[in-house]
Amino acid sequence: MSQQRIIIWYRNDLRLHDHEPIYDAIEQKAQIIPVYCFDDRQFITTSFGFPKTGAFRAQFLLESVRDLRNCLQKLGSDLIVRKGLPEEIIPSLAKEYNVSAVYFHREVTSEELAVEKKLKKALSEIKVKVNTFWGATLYHLEDLPFRIPQIPELFTNFRKQVEKKSEIELTFPTPKQLSKLPDMEVGEIPQLKDLGLEEPQYDRRCVLKFKGGETAGIARLEDYFWKKNCLKEYKETRNGMLGSDYSSKFSAWLANGCLSPRYIYEQVQKYEEERIKNDSTYWLIFELIWRDFFRFICLKHGNKIFYRSGLQGISIPWKEDWKRFELWQEGKTGYPLVDANMRELAATGFMSNRGRQNVASFLTKNLGINWQMGAEWFESLLIDYDVCSNWGNWNYTAGVGNDARGFRYFNIPKQSKDYDRKGNYVRHWLPELESIPGSKVHEPWKLTPEEQKQYQVRLGVDYPRPVVDFFKSVKANEREYNAAISRSK
Ligand SMILES: Cc1cc2nc3c(=O)[nH]c(=O)nc-3n(C[C@H](O)[C@H](O)[C@H](O)COP(=O)(O)OP(=O)(O)OC[C@H]3O[C@@H](n4cnc5c(N)ncnc54)[C@H](O)[C@@H]3O)c2cc1C
Repeated sequence: MSQQRIIIWYRNDLRLHDHEPIYDAIEQKAQIIPVYCFDDRQFITTSFGFPKTGAFRAQFLLESVRDLRNCLQKLGSDLIVRKGLPEEIIPSLAKEYNVSAVYFHREVTSEELAVEKKLKKALSEIKVKVNTFWGATLYHLEDLPFRIPQIPELFTNFRKQVEKKSEIELTFPTPKQLSKLPDMEVGEIPQLKDLGLEEPQYDRRCVLKFKGGETAGIARLEDYFWKKNCLKEYKETRNGMLGSDYSSKFSAWLANGCLSPRYIYEQVQKYEEERIKNDSTYWLIFELIWRDFFRFICLKHGNKIFYRSGLQGISIPWKEDWKRFELWQEGKTGYPLVDANMRELAATGFMSNRGRQNVASFLTKNLGINWQMGAEWFESLLIDYDVCSNWGNWNYTAGVGNDARGFRYFNIPKQSKDYDRKGNYVRHWLPELESIPGSKVHEPWKLTPEEQKQYQVRLGVDYPRPVVDFFKSVKANEREYNAAISRSK
């Protein structure tokens, strides 16, 4: 009997370690054909007019695909690369190469599910089997202590129950060797320009020189955990904004599947045995459970996460004020913490968690602007864009999430002083404020004319005056929010 052939369709799981589809196909002694498709629909313009996958994110993806190809080649295989629609490319490859089954990791949100559905239909017509796997979370879907409709709406309830009643499964072993591909065209990995994008400029001020791929992801973990020994103080440093090591920076590798969360978990366990076990080592796992939570919530609620009214279904009269939105995008709101973070995002494709919470709060609670515009802008730029984490977190910060507990906002002047006490972060990204010392840099609108002269900054000329009064704008948006809540009751 001839050896059966299985296509592994790679999506947001660009790795060899802890990869169940590969493992399962090897167990069956099949000849494996790994395939990646650059789906044209990922490179269109979004409803608010941004490139859906901007240059930073696309670059990280290209690097990840290149690394996957290298890793597969080292094991004797290769990666078949195509550009187009997976639901057409994969059945056509399956037919041409007499493939018996297609294996892939399931996704949970609408665009991805629509592709899966079309692919399954096309494959069933040519009698090719499909086997799907769950592989992006720390806790496996089948190990949850509740059924999908019963997934708790509150993170704390979700976390407490999974921690108490579920186990995290072991990682699947990384293959040591793979069968040779049949004689076929492997296909070139496109360049950015083939995807309609320009090479992004590298900005020296970025927190880390991110490089896509499993190899770089594992190397980052080695560095952060083992060489620099940073994990032991993660809980104390995680709210930082400046430098490579205040947080793990694993997100982009996780989003593209270059790092498996279960692999990180095993490394944390090893660290706890060999170095130290403390609140910080636990806290990294705690954050990974947030990531799981958003994915399971998307699975439960389907498209609601993308609705203007959010998971909560609150009809808030969000504004689509493009003038102010552009000030936010470009980092010209007159609030240095917001501006520094937005410029970091535009220049590097990354922003800290503290920054994301503040800028999202400012957009929605001070400017009253439609949160979906912010979410789409993040989708375009973030190298770690993850559909569930991004849209889920935006739901939360906009106050339309499933745990909406009244109108909550970030007090940005206070946050600035708490998290950037000496103003070093803000000065790092706002050269026009470079000579304003200490925490004075956070409230340039308070500078006297003499101080402005002394620090060589003319308010309204070199740096903008605040686009809105902080507390007045908060109050006005709070009224709108509360009125919307009353209407929805
Ligand atoms: C408005 C908004 C949008 C966001 N969009 C994304 C996104 O598209 N992709 C993304 O991965 N994260 C997103 N986050 C969550 C968080 O900001 C990033 O995961 C984190 O900043 C990445 O840096 P890190 O890897 O150093 O995090 P660490 O602090 O080192 O955390 C470790 C890992 O835990 C997970 N994690 C941490 N915080 C969260 C969180 N709040 N929600 C979900 N997972 C979390 C991430 O996978 C992260 O890599 C968003 C947060 C906000 C407020």
